[in-house]
Amino acid sequence: MSAGISTFAPAIRFSVRRIHFQSEIFIRKAMKVFTSVKELRAELDRTEQSGIGFVPTMGALHAGHRSLVERARKENQTVVVSVFVNPTQFNDKNDLKHYPRTPEADAQVLEEAGADFVLMPSVEEIYPEPDTRVFDFGQIDKVMEGATRPGHFNGVAQVVSRLFDIVRPARAYFGEKDFQQIAVIRAMVEQLRIPVQIVECPIVRGEDGLALSSRNQLLDAPHRAAAPHIYATLRQAVDKSRELDPQALKEWVVREVESNPLLKVIYYQSVNARTMQEVQSWNDCDRIQGCIAVQAGEIRLIDNIRIR
Ligand code: AMP
Repeated sequence: MSAGISTFAPAIRFSVRRIHFQSEIFIRKAMKVFTSVKELRAELDRTEQSGIGFVPTMGALHAGHRSLVERARKENQTVVVSVFVNPTQFNDKNDLKHYPRTPEADAQVLEEAGADFVLMPSVEEIYPEPDTRVFDFGQIDKVMEGATRPGHFNGVAQVVSRLFDIVRPARAYFGEKDFQQIAVIRAMVEQLRIPVQIVECPIVRGEDGLALSSRNQLLDAPHRAAAPHIYATLRQAVDKSRELDPQALKEWVVREVESNPLLKVIYYQSVNARTMQEVQSWNDCDRIQGCIAVQAGEIRLIDNIRIR
């Protein structure tokens, strides 16, 4: 457990919120922060399961996370958010070590966004025993992030299935920023027959177009200045796809991104948005997404855009 998290008592009450709604004033209950799975579960046992919306996060929260919580707030009676940096999805131990952790600021953001219950557990709370499950999602998790971050999606499936088991939400909210992750979660939910609706939420970007990410704060100044070139290129790629076939577009995207010497493309693929497999022609399927991963100095960034 990080030192910051231990400053929370198991269930801390945040200030009472007043919600103005059609000239009436409702008093919302104070947000509660839990470090104990058992205590959160006891609380959720007193709430209606069909009204639970859940947003899993790794913290260092920004406006992208906030948009998911606000959407969940609109669509659910009870909003649960988890803040947990899951070690099993990090294939790079250095990345895990440096992942930003800001629990106090996160609690503030979640309070403002309208969360009811927040779970900020230790690793031992989530994994009392090591999770040795090995998932296989066919071709969906073998490409792009799956191919370049071995074990990443297995760790994601482990933690999300464990969190679904704890929270038992009716709806769970995920950002399209992690486009392939949503396909993996859908496959997992189907495989494990978990009765939850997966809700996809659009990417939130900064004014310069860079997709918001907890890792952005780790970029040094030159790489932070270079990073908006990724989305600028993706936008241009949508236009270019009218004159180039998928293979030629891939070559163009790589050249264009790398015209900035601070950016190195890990992969770019135009994929079938359902199967995650690379398309050979723009007529292969209804929805095609251009997905990219870029190394910007020490930091790995991902982004995507709808091509068709
Ligand atoms: P993370 O904390 O990175 O695991 O992200 C938690 C959730 O927030 C995931 O469903 C992400 O896809 C989503 N998310 C992260 N960044 C953004 C963003 N810029 N816009 C929308 N959703 C996001």
